[in-house]
Amino acid sequence: MPALQDQPYQCPCCDYYSLEERNSYLICPVCYWEDDGQDMDELDRVSGPNHITLRQGRKNFAQLGACDPSAASLVASPQDRSGLRREQRATYF
Ligand SMILES: [Zn+2]
Repeated sequence: MPALQDQPYQCPCCDYYSLEERNSYLICPVCYWEDDGQDMDELDRVSGPNHITLRQGRKNFAQLGACDPSAASLVASPQDRSGLRREQRATYF
C-alpha cells in the first residue's frame, strides 16, 4: 500500500484523517471501519455494516490496531499511515 495522505474527514473509529467524504460507506484504510455516518455521539449504537458498536470498534482499534480482529491483517502499516494527521478523541470504555 502506498503511503496514505490526509483526507478532509476524520474516521469516527481511529481518529485519523483518512476519509475523503463521510456517510458514504468508505472503508477506512487505517482501521477498516466502514463509515455509515455514525460518530462519537452514538458510541453505543450497533453500526449496520460493521456489526459492532462504535465504542467496541474504538476499543478494538486501541488494542489491535483494527476496528475488528478479522481486519487486523488488512489495515495500513504504521509506515503507510505515518503521514496521516490524527487528533485523538477520548473514549471512556
Ligand atoms: Zn479508521
